Amino acid sequence: MVANGETISTEASEGKPTFSSDRKTSTLASLRPDDDVIGWFDLVAERAAMMQKETLRRIIKTNAVTEYLKIWLGEDPPIEDLQLKELEELFRSRVPLAAHAEFEPYLQRIADGDTSPILIRDPVSCLSLSSGTTDGRPKYIPFTSFSAQTTLQICKLGAAYRARTFPTREGGRVLEFIYGNPQRFTKGGVAVGTATTHVFASEAFKAKQQATKSFSCSPQEIIHCGDYKQTTYGHLLLGLFHCDNIEFITSTFAYSVIQGFAALDELWPEICADIRSGNVNPIRVTSPEVRRAILGVVFPDPALALRIESACRELKERQWRGLVPSLWPNAKYILSIMTGSMLPYMAKLRHYAGNVPFVSADYGSSECWIGANIEPIQPPERVTFTLVPTFAYFEFIPLRTSSNGSGYSNDDEPVTIAEVELHREYELVVTTFTGLYRYRLGDVVRVVGFHKSSPKLSFVRRRNVMLAVNTDKSTERDLELAVEKTAGLLAKSGAELVDFTSRAVVGDGAHWPGYYVIFLEIDGEVSDSALRECCRAMDLSFADYGYVVSRRCGSIGPLELCVLEKGTFKEILAYYIGNGGTLSQFKTPRCVNSEELLRILNRRVRSRFSSDAYAA
Ligand code: AMP
Repeated sequence: MVANGETISTEASEGKPTFSSDRKTSTLASLRPDDDVIGWFDLVAERAAMMQKETLRRIIKTNAVTEYLKIWLGEDPPIEDLQLKELEELFRSRVPLAAHAEFEPYLQRIADGDTSPILIRDPVSCLSLSSGTTDGRPKYIPFTSFSAQTTLQICKLGAAYRARTFPTREGGRVLEFIYGNPQRFTKGGVAVGTATTHVFASEAFKAKQQATKSFSCSPQEIIHCGDYKQTTYGHLLLGLFHCDNIEFITSTFAYSVIQGFAALDELWPEICADIRSGNVNPIRVTSPEVRRAILGVVFPDPALALRIESACRELKERQWRGLVPSLWPNAKYILSIMTGSMLPYMAKLRHYAGNVPFVSADYGSSECWIGANIEPIQPPERVTFTLVPTFAYFEFIPLRTSSNGSGYSNDDEPVTIAEVELHREYELVVTTFTGLYRYRLGDVVRVVGFHKSSPKLSFVRRRNVMLAVNTDKSTERDLELAVEKTAGLLAKSGAELVDFTSRAVVGDGAHWPGYYVIFLEIDGEVSDSALRECCRAMDLSFADYGYVVSRRCGSIGPLELCVLEKGTFKEILAYYIGNGGTLSQFKTPRCVNSEELLRILNRRVRSRFSSDAYAA
């Protein structure tokens, strides 16, 4: 494995893994994760605390020359003279905890083409767009060869554990609902895209298919087409063409699998026609590259077309219940991120999946990979992620419920992996090979057990996220910025914003895809055309990259603006006080999920507007 050019997985010493906490002889691996990935993981998990110190030493050693680390550790930190524990203490006492905002000026210089060692030693040629925003701006995160290699490694690890529970046929196919967005380049020449886009385009992605002996049915041209609809058509056409060979179905987040299945309702007659004729529908797929890629695979198969057609006719009559076993009879499981913001979609996915098991995919972020699901049998509600102590250096801020019950207070200092306590909740802090140091990831996790000595984490939630439908994560600040835009537009009409709240409608049978709703109470008269403009401006204001991409491709629907009757927020206050709340503690909820409050809001909606931003 390569970290910024440095080998971090060394060769076996006389065929046997050796470990030593001695500074001079310690090696991270002396192990070969490629040979026996589960054996390798058991060993690193057994020595999790030592592995963490060693990982930190490697990160510091590689990047001590950077501008950022020099500020905090000085020109020439005594890396070689300190024991691992001493180096860890030095690092944790000198380098401050930081949020994305603190790294933003450095990342902007990287984006502008500065190749000096700013955050990592080597020049950064790729930046990922992580979910969330910094004060309304998209978040850049460096993507390096280490990012791609750890992706490969966690895929191998996950595949090895899955193979124990759900063996698949070697050489089988995988129906992957995956989407690479077109990379763009900054004016400094740095490639920018989502981390998944970088991964799907990397050599590691090809290596993953070889290593796990499972091959995607869609060629690269389909994955990277950049037009969501054409890609979905391609995935479904090839997935059905190979239907008897599909071993499992996957996507990054479960939402995309559901979106793919939902599209069948409209697309199946054309897909069957294409399988019958060995052609590709010229209206559904216009990209010459995608057409060529599909035509290189499909050939006329009237018998298969007939079989799929009659299955689809039957499925349509039962609202596509159990489509997976019916169309992909050899699929062993569906693999996707099903935890966190994806949990509300599990009922819908179960509707399609029939008795085919769900496997929750591993836990990671654009910043770094975090934990592997080593018990794939667990249902999404109970899945845990075992921390991989070589991927990054992790710290844990203990969280306590605040006294007024309104959330968390976290005045406690972060603890190390060796200090985490069972059943406690923590905010994760990561120090990565990609140039983030003591970076607050914003995820809340609970320690629910240990594998050897590495903690098993359950994902609790993302801190500060208010609205989420798909991969988007919009915070209270994002909502405020959107509403501030509207307040400015209302002022031009001589009206004033009284108060606001919101909700995310997650896609279900009645509403697909999901979308954001913003409720506004306005004092003064405003024309419908001005309100339409407010609605559009708010939709465009949400800058989280997951939101923007999902809106562009239609996997999140148009934002809805609901204008409320005067006095609605007074009624909400009265409701709160009527339920034992006190006026002094009342804060308008900025996101509403309670049935009762939604009833009040919906009863008092005076007019609704649907955004036409992102309309084709
Ligand atoms: P991104 O930065 O866009 O790559 O998104 C990463 C974020 O997605 C993480 O910080 C988590 O909040 C969430 N996430 C990733 N993997 C999982 C998972 N297995 N379960 C729940 N949430 C996840």
